Amino acid sequence: IRGQAAAPGSLADSLKDVKLKLVTISGKGGVGKSLVTTSIAVGFAMRGYRVGILDGDVYGPTVPKMLGLSDSTLYVDQKTGRIIPVVGPLGIKVVSIEFALPGDDTAVIWRAPLVNQALRDFISQVEWGPLDVLVVDLPPGTGDAPLTIAQSLQGGLDGSVIVTIPTEISRRIVLKSIDFSRKLNIKVAGVVENMCCFKCPDNGKVYYIFGKDAGKRIAEAAGVPFLGGIPIDPEFSQYLDSGRLHEFLGKDNETAKAV
Ligand code: ADP
Ligand code: MG
Repeated sequence: IRGQAAAPGSLADSLKDVKLKLVTISGKGGVGKSLVTTSIAVGFAMRGYRVGILDGDVYGPTVPKMLGLSDSTLYVDQKTGRIIPVVGPLGIKVVSIEFALPGDDTAVIWRAPLVNQALRDFISQVEWGPLDVLVVDLPPGTGDAPLTIAQSLQGGLDGSVIVTIPTEISRRIVLKSIDFSRKLNIKVAGVVENMCCFKCPDNGKVYYIFGKDAGKRIAEAAGVPFLGGIPIDPEFSQYLDSGRLHEFLGKDNETAKAV
């Protein structure tokens, strides 16, 4: 973070002009949580809303990469001492630990207290300005770091989106995420089933690789809304890897529509 040290700030100050605050949760890494977080933000931005993303996954920050912002840097306003978000595609404001690390491959090997402090700073000292929607990407699991963020934002979070893949093994993990959300008094907006299926480009057939409708069954059993499924799509993956998630979602195809 360039410039002078950020000034201490209060959470209420930082988020007072943010209308809707959402958080994505998954009990497990690699299921597409960052993809869903970033897609929610892009979806709102495409509809003309003012959007911010807080990439709270300090150990595996991927939001900047998905939007092609890996080389950006966070600045601290010299007058106010507050952190200025990076402005990405569609005017989306992004704050991520990635912007404060010297290189793409730098690992964050901080211990929990340091991580928790960094997260609290990110939450309380950012100058978001007026936003319609803030989407927060939590680290996977229900451990210390996700707890710190969720608790720091407590009372201010309007809903959680739970991301899973459709395996029966995910059931317990999803139930844990729902429990986590409820214990922190965050309303569960619903469950997204990522990697729900794969449509073969050669024969047009749809394959349910992990099992059909498991995510839906889990959501129903837990009494929370099912928000829908996102297919496995190699083209989508290529767009993500090259930092063009927003371009993919502007396309007229089945995956983009599902997202
Ligand atoms: P998480 O944040 O849960 O760890 P990510 O959103 O980073 O997971 O996704 C993990 C990897 O899987 C990424 O490289 C992403 O490009 C890929 N991926 C996730 N969902 C899909 C999908 N529906 N189709 C293609 N690739 C996907
Ligand atoms: Mg992630």
